[in-house]
Amino acid sequence: MNILKAICAATALLTSFSAARAAEPSTDFTPKPASPATIAAQAQMQASLPVDDGRDEDFAHRGFIATPKETLIRHKDGHVVWDIAQQDWIKGDAPSTVNPSLWRHMKLLKEHGLYKVTEGVWQVRGLDAANMLIVSGKTGWIVIDPLMSTETAGAAMALVNEYLGKRPISAVIYGHSHPDHFGGVRALFAPGDSLPPIIAPDAMVKEAGSEFVIAGNAESRRAAFQFGVGLKPGPQGYVGAGIVVASAKGSTVTLIQPTDSIKTTGETRDIDGVRFEFQMVPETEAPSEMNFYLPEQRTLYVSEDTTCTMHNVQTPRGALVRDANKWAGYITEQIGLYGDKVESLVTGHCWPRFGNAAIKNYLGLQRDNYKFIHDQTVRLLNKGETPTEIAEELKRPDAIANEWSNRGYYGTVRHNAKGVYQRYIGWWDGIPAHLNLYPPIEQGKRYVKAMGGAGNVIREAKAAMGKGDYRWSAELLNHLVFADPSNIKAKALLADSYEQMGYQTESAIWRNIYLVGANELRGVAAVKLSMASPDMVTAMPTESFLDLIATRLNPEKIGDRTMTLVIDDSDAADHSLLSLKNSVLVPEIGKSITVPTASVSGNRMQLVGLFVAKMPLEKLEAAGLKVTGDRAALAALLAAIEPPPADYPIVTP
Ligand SMILES: [Zn+2]
Repeated sequence: MNILKAICAATALLTSFSAARAAEPSTDFTPKPASPATIAAQAQMQASLPVDDGRDEDFAHRGFIATPKETLIRHKDGHVVWDIAQQDWIKGDAPSTVNPSLWRHMKLLKEHGLYKVTEGVWQVRGLDAANMLIVSGKTGWIVIDPLMSTETAGAAMALVNEYLGKRPISAVIYGHSHPDHFGGVRALFAPGDSLPPIIAPDAMVKEAGSEFVIAGNAESRRAAFQFGVGLKPGPQGYVGAGIVVASAKGSTVTLIQPTDSIKTTGETRDIDGVRFEFQMVPETEAPSEMNFYLPEQRTLYVSEDTTCTMHNVQTPRGALVRDANKWAGYITEQIGLYGDKVESLVTGHCWPRFGNAAIKNYLGLQRDNYKFIHDQTVRLLNKGETPTEIAEELKRPDAIANEWSNRGYYGTVRHNAKGVYQRYIGWWDGIPAHLNLYPPIEQGKRYVKAMGGAGNVIREAKAAMGKGDYRWSAELLNHLVFADPSNIKAKALLADSYEQMGYQTESAIWRNIYLVGANELRGVAAVKLSMASPDMVTAMPTESFLDLIATRLNPEKIGDRTMTLVIDDSDAADHSLLSLKNSVLVPEIGKSITVPTASVSGNRMQLVGLFVAKMPLEKLEAAGLKVTGDRAALAALLAAIEPPPADYPIVTP
């Protein structure tokens, strides 16, 4: 029985991909070239871009040693997890279907291989979504951020050992709690190896196990849009995701528990003869995150606090809103702590930066960007402006906006401003008419009727498209598609509008969102993206696991039933009481009662198999799960716990 397979299928947490074209009765559903309006918009963007002084190109190529001769990295079952050369086609001038600023950025980001940063410090870039940093210790390699997958981390270490010499791994450091920075860790060791120190920021495992759980299904569905999963690489398709070149396909994500955690800024460690000074930066780009400075190498590693692009204050895939003000504050702290000493700067994604003056200038401008967006959004919201008005109006000073690394290839000024707004005063813009809006289908029907029917909506939308006003045509057509999803013309024109918006936008993730939206309107089946691995399922805090169960209870199915359930989890070494009443499951960790309605005991994988993946009880019992008490009551509860659909519709009702 493959419990993991069932869990992956049911929870949508590792990556599995499927894309198939469903039969749609229209020839309008084909990708289109850039429209005249898009060609004009690209020219205007090109003319407005700052002068490229060639510095980023120098930094992106500096220290190059080698890239693997074999460009395909495979899973043990044979499928290709990562193609190192997948974006090598991005060269020359920007095609009319790609924003010229984004094109310049992806030409730099797609570089791949092993690079020397400074004496004793190297990076592997472009072998996975994130970078692997290598520091030479006295006895072996200190590996920081061992990529997302064992397949790619294995290839990265093979490259290091081939060109720098084979040495043992003397320590591992995880910079933060996102799996693209730790998931490949098991590739660094053979089974049975004794493990070296593994160092992480405080609460890293708990955060890694909980960030993608409670809203994980929706986050995965939206992440497939944000990361353009399923889009074919090419001028009319996928060019990248702003901070990453691509996403690994069906790879193996692992996690080894840290042996040492860093809690406060100023802590130091002597790791295999190398001195590390740490800075804690929680609640910035990840809930658990840290940076460090290597005084002997004069190298600063800043995780994702700064990168080659503006990051997300509010990521479109969905996550808690990050604290832009704190974020800026941590960068100020970095400048104070290391600003006068640092000579090279490395980040979790993107190319390094070199030279004290260039780094200080960059850190200051990155800080000013987050601080400006934060402060000015708050200033305008206090004047009564709504999120859409603030997003439209916010114009950064040229000194900030013309710094290439502040441009919005990943985060954007517009959606980050909305994130700041939401963090302080929530989703409502304050307009009474917006307090209780009709949902999309009801809105759509009423708008279409008010406009005099579908024919008028199509006419207006076409007129808007003729003028290049795709924001408006998309709005109109979206109402019509939600009012009547059988209207093929509306879907085709909406897809065409999204496509031109995707071509025009500077943000790689906005491009992906629009182009995946167009694909799905054109009948390309939704791509299921999931991220579950035995290590992460086991690392999930009991609290998150119980919340996951409670948030999948269908009240119509459970009715007015009451019951108590004791759950013994041998991996978490705890027991919990779940009490059911009023269609609410109340969890109490560490509590038990002598005569519950039923009790279940097993390891975490079995428990997840039962409650989340909905595997048959008998199969799990055969694998060792134990159930006592009222089996019928347990069966009724299990029947009312519903896994959400991993491919629910987004661009149609
Ligand atoms: Zn990352």
